[in-house]
Amino acid sequence: MAWDFSTDPEFQQELDWMREFVETETEPLCLLWPGMDHTPPPPWLRKVIDPLKQRVRDRGLWACHLPPELGGHGYGQVKLALMNEIIGRNEWAPTIFGVQGPDTGNAEILAHYGTEEQKARYLRPLLEGEVFSCFSMTEPQAGADPRLFTTRAVRDGDGWVINGEKFFSSNVEQAAFVIVMAVTDPDADPIRGMSMFLVPADTPGIEVVRPTMTYGEEPGGMTHPHLRYRDVRVGPEAMLGGEGQAFVVAQTRLGGGRVHHSMRAVGVATRAFEMMCERALSRRAHGSLVADKQLVQQAIADSWAQISQYRLFVLHTAWLIDQGGTASVRKEIAAIKNLGAKLVHDVVERAVHVHGALGVSDEMPLARMWMQVPMFGIWDGPTEAHTTTVARQVLRDFSPAPGPWPTEWLPGRREAARRRYAAALAEQAAWEARADGAGTGPTLTQNS
Ligand SMILES: Cc1cc2nc3c(=O)[nH]c(=O)nc-3n(C[C@H](O)[C@H](O)[C@H](O)COP(=O)(O)OP(=O)(O)OC[C@H]3O[C@@H](n4cnc5c(N)ncnc54)[C@H](O)[C@@H]3O)c2cc1C
Repeated sequence: MAWDFSTDPEFQQELDWMREFVETETEPLCLLWPGMDHTPPPPWLRKVIDPLKQRVRDRGLWACHLPPELGGHGYGQVKLALMNEIIGRNEWAPTIFGVQGPDTGNAEILAHYGTEEQKARYLRPLLEGEVFSCFSMTEPQAGADPRLFTTRAVRDGDGWVINGEKFFSSNVEQAAFVIVMAVTDPDADPIRGMSMFLVPADTPGIEVVRPTMTYGEEPGGMTHPHLRYRDVRVGPEAMLGGEGQAFVVAQTRLGGGRVHHSMRAVGVATRAFEMMCERALSRRAHGSLVADKQLVQQAIADSWAQISQYRLFVLHTAWLIDQGGTASVRKEIAAIKNLGAKLVHDVVERAVHVHGALGVSDEMPLARMWMQVPMFGIWDGPTEAHTTTVARQVLRDFSPAPGPWPTEWLPGRREAARRRYAAALAEQAAWEARADGAGTGPTLTQNS
């Protein structure tokens, strides 16, 4: 019977070190240099962050999501999940720990599908945090439904020419390369008609139409531009994973990544929750501590239970991946993506509310958290699309009723039970008839 919810004491020590480090070392970076965590650091900033990255490396905690051949430790998803819970507590922590998106997913694609030359040129600097990258899939006219993508790659000699437009290509302005999804066979089923390309960011023909930003982003922070690809020429080596393989390649970046993002959602919600509890115990209103008000207690109790429940679901999903890979846990991965968005929404909203006016001011981290809430339900696909995946996957384990009535239809089940216990029922009837005749004993009636 193996059903153990404990963390190895040695690994707990690492988590404790991380928690302390994230609070004391990466939090000040968020206060002084917000929004610079996705930018190649200028020399003065390198002097600050390089020693911090080195401390993480010395501790053996740098870029732990990577397979051992790329410098990771082969940590399973449960360990990575616990680490990401801590890394999710502030914006600079992912960069200092070498797990900044979208670079982590792009590094995995490169590691799996890149040529030796592409790896030499991009992978090592990406893993070292020297360069950044971009994943360019969403288009101005379509996002959740990739079958509507129109960016086209056409053969040109032995290479390809890419034309089209993309939207929300995060951090492209800082990127050394872009991974672009494009239609290579417009006559095929769209899922098999698209391919993935690695395009160096300085390739002629990539134009930023507008440097779109999300609200809540710091000035100078990450942009999510509308891009135009105009006759962008690449060689045959640019294609990652073969013609028509775009979705197979894209899956490489999603498996464990969703678990990591979900645990970062736990980190965000937990931080908001801690602020809420401290404030409730510090503030008085109408004759008592705010913490003594029953409705505030409800907010605290609900938040605590919601975080605990969600955290266990994510950790269980991580454990399932460790047992059998991501293919068999698609519904869990889609469900935790959705529930994480709801968790952050609910807990941050309550924390803001318990802080009153201070909660909506720019003097608490809560305002930025609140502005990011809707994004949890949109990036990596909207909640509704994942809900559909969950339902479809769940329904695979069920079959239609064999006839016109549900299998749980009571008259039918009762009839089956009667057939099964026909002898006992006959005995019961005889016994009741005798009892009636004797005028004693209980009177049993039979429901029909
Ligand atoms: C902060 C952030 C960063 C991002 N970074 C990147 C990036 O680096 N690269 C990239 O390519 N993309 C990126 N995206 C884009 C993201 O992947 C898309 O926003 C997402 O896939 C949804 O596409 P859309 O915005 O076009 O919404 P649409 O496809 O227009 O969907 C709009 C709405 O329609 C409804 N809807 C859609 N599908 C269904 C359905 N099946 N059932 C029911 N309702 C549905 C939902 O309400 C949905 O929210 C990023 C997004 C955000 C917010």
